Amino acid sequence: MLKRKDLVGLIDVTKEEITEILDVASEMKAHLKAGEKRLSYLHGKTATILFYENSTRTRTSFELAAKYLGATVINIAAGASSVAKGETLVDTGKTLDAQLNDFLIMRHPMGGAPYLLGKTVHASVLNAGDGMNEHPTQALLDMLTMREHFGSLEGLKVAILGDIKHSRVAKSNLFGLKTMGAEVYMHAPETLIPKGIDRLGAKLCKTREEAIEGADVVMGLRIQLERQQAGNFPSLAEYADFYGVDCAALKLAKKNAIIMHPGPVNRGVELTGKVIDHDQSRIEAQVFSGIAVRMAALKLLNDYREYNKEKNV
Ligand code: ASP
Repeated sequence: MLKRKDLVGLIDVTKEEITEILDVASEMKAHLKAGEKRLSYLHGKTATILFYENSTRTRTSFELAAKYLGATVINIAAGASSVAKGETLVDTGKTLDAQLNDFLIMRHPMGGAPYLLGKTVHASVLNAGDGMNEHPTQALLDMLTMREHFGSLEGLKVAILGDIKHSRVAKSNLFGLKTMGAEVYMHAPETLIPKGIDRLGAKLCKTREEAIEGADVVMGLRIQLERQQAGNFPSLAEYADFYGVDCAALKLAKKNAIIMHPGPVNRGVELTGKVIDHDQSRIEAQVFSGIAVRMAALKLLNDYREYNKEKNV
């Protein structure tokens, strides 16, 4: 059983917990593939989706996941809520708690916001991306996609290329993949490598070729123009030439390597169009894994809530 109220980051999630989430996600996939989209694990429960930043995939997949599990789902766009009138995050959380929400699914531009919310509400908080910090369900869906292809994550070489500095996906993948026994190689312009990431276990490579050579997984990350001050690299065209992944670079990876990207992709920048549409690309498979992993996370957090309820009675 996942023994935690909230899922806010993978930094302290154990191998057993990750394995359990991935196993339940595989069961969820089997349900979905059999056309079973009316499950009852969250029947009678309410999930509120509170996004302070834009999203396509993550928001819709959390909403579908909660609905497929039978929850009532409310969507709040921060711009249309009392946040726009100056309400604090903690006060918003208290309001949502008073409305007897069971799950708060939050995306926020500030790293740490879901931790603060989780500490102040009774509802379970799921982090759908906090600033440049973590995006745990993205890394879990990436790991599910990898595990389906390779059978295990142990010993995989995962090459992550792109805007690592501004990426919460890179950090959650680094924590999760290391816990599961994979090796994470990273490459980007110096200005897009966060200081100290090697001390967290990433192997920094001097060239894209060194990162991709013999890789099982080649993962591109979006250049996050909205989070950058100008001047991290000369131009997008130059970035694509020197740091982007094209078919020639991909040839250095293992024969059965897979290509991944969390999306949205800047086509032709971090990956060329041919790489995105390659037979070995798993970018669409990642989207499907996203629904299954979010169903699994919601179900397991709910199991823990129910277990605690029973214990207190
Ligand atoms: N969708 C991912 C995120 O929200 C990756 C990205 O935006 O580049 O972090």
